[in-house]
Amino acid sequence: MQTVTIGNVQVTPLLDTGLLMDPHQFMPKHAEQLLKEYSHVADERGLMPMSITCYLVRSEGKNVLVDTGLGNRRRPGFPVGHLDETLTAAGLAPGDIDVVLNTHLHIDHVGWNTVDREDGTREVFFPNARFVFQQAEWDFWMTPAQLAQPANAHLVECVEPLRDSGRITFFEGEKALDTNITFISTPGHTPGHVSIGIASAGERAVIIGDASHHPAQLIHPDWSPGFDTDPILSARTRDALFDRAITEDRTWLAGHWAYPGIGKLARLEGKRVFQAI
Ligand SMILES: [Zn+2]
Repeated sequence: MQTVTIGNVQVTPLLDTGLLMDPHQFMPKHAEQLLKEYSHVADERGLMPMSITCYLVRSEGKNVLVDTGLGNRRRPGFPVGHLDETLTAAGLAPGDIDVVLNTHLHIDHVGWNTVDREDGTREVFFPNARFVFQQAEWDFWMTPAQLAQPANAHLVECVEPLRDSGRITFFEGEKALDTNITFISTPGHTPGHVSIGIASAGERAVIIGDASHHPAQLIHPDWSPGFDTDPILSARTRDALFDRAITEDRTWLAGHWAYPGIGKLARLEGKRVFQAI
């Protein structure tokens, strides 16, 4: 398990699960071109590797967990996540997590906020954590109408139990969590979607959440997947974040790119490229 150092901050990728992505489901309009450009990573069925990776950020003596994967529930069409085991492999217990940040409230980012035990009880998986949500994201999803949608069962299971727990802090926009960690507003995938900026001792990084799902978007930032709530805005946000990461020399931490999704973006012969580290 590789850890990258950003000044006085350590970032460790924690894999919840790998995934095989079908371009025809993921971005139907651009599937053929994606398969052509990335044929070297597709398997014989035309499926491409992606991951659901969470990131452990150690900053100012605290363990901050960015996103919590799919969780341990069996859901049709989704693999079961293993963040619990990856956390153990990183030498941590759930009780060691001080802060949980969900970049947004989709099913693959809030899964381990809670767990369902075999006796039917449900509990918060991180007993000592404070949960930080963006107010705009909460306001969009956590309404009676949204919670009543079958597709949003994960909100009922993984977010609603926190509502009256006294553990939530709401942030609006680009606030600092501590001296090293700041939210970067990256709306479009969802209305209150944020990326997590890290800056320490002259070094910088960004945990991008779902601002981008695939490196092909470096050249085609307008290739927005169908599940972006605002595909025009997400494309603009994505394009700007790529450029900002290059200009500010930020280490790029992309939780859905093939694991561990860590590297630098650069411009080579006029084209943006990803250099994995
Ligand atoms: Zn996602």
